[in-house]
Amino acid sequence: MAEPCNQCGRCCLHMRRYMVIERSIGESHHFCHFTLTKERFFAQIGGDDLVRFRDRESMSRYPDSCPFLRPRENEGFCCTIYSSRPEHCRRFFCA
Ligand code: SF4
Ligand code: SF4
Repeated sequence: MAEPCNQCGRCCLHMRRYMVIERSIGESHHFCHFTLTKERFFAQIGGDDLVRFRDRESMSRYPDSCPFLRPRENEGFCCTIYSSRPEHCRRFFCA
């Protein structure tokens, strides 16, 4: 049975090699290729997520993480493209 997500980020911390940003339009729109499943999708970042996304330094300790992952204010991590994330991420459930 699936556990509720506690936003620990473990499922995203080694996704860098699969998440390719092929082209960006400004900071908030990105044509992406998720090579693990060969899905091409359009990622959009807005609001507080864009503020978080700009802070690339906050992820310097996690060089293998998905480029869209950022730390939360208190603990854990958040996906800055949550509403436009690829199908693989939408369907992922912790065992
Ligand atoms: S889905 Fe990912 S972020 Fe959520 S609890 Fe599982 S490993 Fe952690
Ligand atoms: S798109 Fe979001 S959910 Fe998917 S690997 Fe990246 S940070 Fe994690």
